[in-house]
Amino acid sequence: QRQTDRARQRPAIAARRLTKRFGPIEALKDLSLDIRENEFFTLLGPSGCGKTTLLRLIAGFELPTTGRIELDGEDISGLPPHRRPVNTVFQNYALFPHMTVAENVGFGLKMLGRSRSEIARRSAEMLELVELGAMAGRRVEQLSGGQQQRVALARALAPAPRVLLLDEPLAALDLKLRKAMQLELKKLQAETGITFVFVTHDQEEALTMSDRIAVMRAGEVLQVGSPAEIYDRPAHRFVADFIGEINILEGRIERMSREGHALVRLGGGAEIEARLDPELPRHGAVSVAVRPEGARLAGAEEAATIEGRLEHVVYFGSGSHIHLRLASGEPFVLRHSGPVDPQHLQPGARLGACIAPEQARVLA
Ligand code: ATP
Repeated sequence: QRQTDRARQRPAIAARRLTKRFGPIEALKDLSLDIRENEFFTLLGPSGCGKTTLLRLIAGFELPTTGRIELDGEDISGLPPHRRPVNTVFQNYALFPHMTVAENVGFGLKMLGRSRSEIARRSAEMLELVELGAMAGRRVEQLSGGQQQRVALARALAPAPRVLLLDEPLAALDLKLRKAMQLELKKLQAETGITFVFVTHDQEEALTMSDRIAVMRAGEVLQVGSPAEIYDRPAHRFVADFIGEINILEGRIERMSREGHALVRLGGGAEIEARLDPELPRHGAVSVAVRPEGARLAGAEEAATIEGRLEHVVYFGSGSHIHLRLASGEPFVLRHSGPVDPQHLQPGARLGACIAPEQARVLA
């Protein structure tokens, strides 16, 4: 067990002070990152933040302007793509339409000069893995989008790469198929034990699939952590905002509670008790973050933490989001599960929300 733990800790890929410039554009800025052996690692960030550039540097399609990339502790920055034990699945699959499914899957092995019998055996094995064994003889253009995606995966996995890079591989699929493929990809990663580096701008997809996530903005990594760490303890306001819905309220720390929470006076005059990391200052102007599910409607007799006027209710099946406008002018969204009685929810109605101290957090 200890050995597997150690193996999990060793970085399979390390980016060391990577910078990549395209003329005046700095796509990556002094970026350092460890990706561990056997993990499902996700690069998450808005369009243009440098996710694809980082992937292309790892694959060797681009060279860094400065810095280096290590694989198992060895500098691979100078190796051409085909000499790296790394394979890529692209968003558009990049399959050969005139070839059969089996020929597509075997293509990389053929390029590597493997024997015909090995190619046949390995291709069949990979097609079984992605549950397309029955389709081996079909031409790729006869397949659905989801099936083509699985062929692309089988092709990329066939040479048994150390690392598989996936650049928004599910973006072209419809929602239902995408959800199914998310589970399949996760299963595939667990079964093969190959390190996956997955690129997406979809935060929900990142939370569902990843062992760890790197949140990127403008060529930099802002935070690396497990989905729960990123969601519950965002280290930056940008991360808090980017990962799921969140309310951010401005205020000022008045004092500390006996439990070590900050008592924050909000703009509208209400006081909220919030978690405060020990390394943060215990005074001054702060922002307090509360997830919609961290607040609930106050009962008629209950003391509310904050009050506001109802603006609108968004129903989404398993619950509703109740949108309030606070006295400070700030919007506030809270999640309500169960039915909402429209009688009690007239626009403009005064509503209170209760927020437990564990559900409010002072942002760095
Ligand atoms: P998206 O989610 O839209 O694919 P991304 O996070 O993958 O975005 P990149 O494609 O890595 O972002 O681009 C990062 C920045 O570098 C962008 O400003 C982009 O315009 C720029 N860039 C990327 N490739 C090149 C190139 N070959 N020449 C010039 N600029 C480029």
